[in-house]
Amino acid sequence: MPSLFSRIIAGEIPGAFVYRSPRWVAFLDINPVAPGHILLVPVQEAGLIMQLDGPTLAEMGPIMAALDQGLRRVTQCDAVSILIRDGAAAGQEVPHVHIHLIPRRQGDAPHQFKGDRYSDGAMEFYRQALEQAMRT
Ligand code: AMP
Repeated sequence: MPSLFSRIIAGEIPGAFVYRSPRWVAFLDINPVAPGHILLVPVQEAGLIMQLDGPTLAEMGPIMAALDQGLRRVTQCDAVSILIRDGAAAGQEVPHVHIHLIPRRQGDAPHQFKGDRYSDGAMEFYRQALEQAMRT
């Protein structure tokens, strides 16, 4: 069964589109964190970023940057939060990749994760493991 976002892309469910290309679309989030909140969504129906095909991935950065620029111009915001929840445990509710672009202003509650310190040796363990993962 097609995802909610595939149905919006197909026109079966209304969407407030701000951008369309063969591989990517962008429309307004129906429950915006702030007015202008955009969802950038690939036409390819994939749950996770790593499942997107090469050409789709290659186009993501430039489109995201253009939307960021347009959002700043239109909303006169001070900053933009760009967020991907890549999987259900990260809070992803719609299992079809989407990138949130949310206009932010000085004084807004920050979208921050609360960090903690590594235990002894753990930072080097993850550094080595992730560096190795990038080579294979
Ligand atoms: P996430 O929690 O990262 O999966 O984000 C899903 C987003 O989709 C939420 O911010 C919802 O407000 C948004 N959303 C759900 N249904 C619609 C819809 N019909 N049109 C636009 N945005 C939607």
